[in-house]
Parts: sequence; structure tokens; C-alpha cells
Amino acid sequence: MNADLERIVALQKLVSAAHDAERALAAEPERAKALDARLEAVRQRVAAAKERLTENQNARRVVEKDVAVHQGRLSKFREQAMAVKTNQEYHAVQKEIAFAQGEIKTIEDKILELMVEADDLTATVKRAEAELASEQKAVEADRRGMATELAAMKSSLERIAVERAEVVRALDPHALAVFELVLRRRNGVGVAQARDGICTVCHVRLRPQVFNTVLRNDQIIQCDSCQRILYYVPAAAPATSDSVSQPTQ
Ligand SMILES: [Zn+2]
Repeated sequence: MNADLERIVALQKLVSAAHDAERALAAEPERAKALDARLEAVRQRVAAAKERLTENQNARRVVEKDVAVHQGRLSKFREQAMAVKTNQEYHAVQKEIAFAQGEIKTIEDKILELMVEADDLTATVKRAEAELASEQKAVEADRRGMATELAAMKSSLERIAVERAEVVRALDPHALAVFELVLRRRNGVGVAQARDGICTVCHVRLRPQVFNTVLRNDQIIQCDSCQRILYYVPAAAPATSDSVSQPTQ
């Protein structure tokens, strides 16, 4: 391959690699935010479960106070029952006693119900807390992974910059100017592989004469349609890079 064409193809790889790394770097804050959100969602589940348990405990305190009130009334009625003088008074007090007992029974059933519910809610809190602990571990691992990736991307960008400078230094300035112009106009892709008579980037068929010249890889030729610099990759043959292969159909 023509040395400058080879350099341009190499340069394109470096440009694309740098572009990918920069895009990944730019996406990093968003990824970090997504991790925070993941953790926050589980934290909210824990908080909600605790809130429900607290509500249950508060409700139980309220009904326990009620039961104490009814028990107080019950013992008062029992004292009164000892001191009644008439049959009518006796029945009235017995009625009050039965009512208080009924109230106490209802409240005690309610307390039992709240206790059973409290067991479930406590289990839910524990599960949510365990989930939070494991999610915290997973998120920390992801953060460490991201930090490693970030460092790798930064050093790869530095390496790319060095290599790019070397290639640019060796490249013919005119060829470089052509490449950079197309690069700017064509969305960061300044070269195109020609295959089966077609520019593989814009998919336009090349004139046969143009394609035949591209097959030789010995000069800088641009696609008539997209202006990208064309190059040809011989069909997979034993690695003798300068062997001239037959075009494949
Ligand atoms: Zn093209």
C-alpha cells in the first residue's frame, strides 16, 4: 500500500478510537448517576418498610391505651357490682361489665392482628435491608469497575494522541489536508473501504476505472460521491500484506 494511504487508514483508526473513548468518557457522569439512582430506589424501599412498621407500632400503642381504659372501667364496675342494692342496679352493672369485656375482647383481637402484621413487617424490613446491603456492594463494585475503565480510557486517549502525532508528522501535508477536510465534512469518517466495486460507506457504485485504481492501493483517490479516501483490503490471504490479490466479485 502507498505509505501515505496506509498512514491515512491508520490515522482514521486512531481518530475513531479517540472518538469512541471520548464518547464513553462523556457518558460517564450519566452512568454514575444511574448507579446512585439504583441505590436510592432500594433505600426508599427500606424507608417505606420501616415507615409501615412504625405505623403498626403506633397503632398498637393506641389500642393498648384503649384496652387499659376499658380494663379500668371493668374493675370499677366489678366494685360497683359488689355494692348493688337492687336487682335492677345489678342488671345494669352486669350489662356494663359485659360491654366492657366485649370491648376488651375486640381490642385484644386487634392487638393480636397487629402483632402478626408486625412480624411480617419486621421480616420485610430485614429483607429490604439485606437487599440494600447487597446492592451497596454491587454498586461499589460497579463504581470501582467504572473508575478502572475511566483510567484505561484516559491513558488510551493519551496513547492515541501520541500515535496520532507520529502519523501526522510522517504524512504528506497535502494528503493530511484532504483527509482532515473530509473528516470534518463527513462526520468523523474520512476513509472508506472499496469492495465489490462499491464505496462501503456511502454505498455508491464506483466507476470501474476508479475501482481498478483503488485496487492497487497506490494513490490517494476519493469517492466521487462522498469524497472519502478509498482503500482496498485484499481478500483474506496468507499474511503477505503487499501481495496483489484478485478482486473478489
Ligand atoms: Zn463513498
